[in-house]
Amino acid sequence: MKSISCRDAGFNCDHVVKGETEEEILRNGMEHAKRDHNMKEEDFTPEMQQKMRNYVQNS
Ligand SMILES: [Zn+2]
Repeated sequence: MKSISCRDAGFNCDHVVKGETEEEILRNGMEHAKRDHNMKEEDFTPEMQQKMRNYVQNS
């Protein structure tokens, strides 16, 4: 299981995004950010997605 702590990514938020694969976790992270952080599809640039990959923790 992989996870990204929203707080690690710079949000004041205790949500932890989980997924089985990096693709899944990016998808889940984008959904959470769109729903709870008012982010838009176009905010997820390749750079932003790369950043998110750097925050992934394996557990
Ligand atoms: Zn969050």
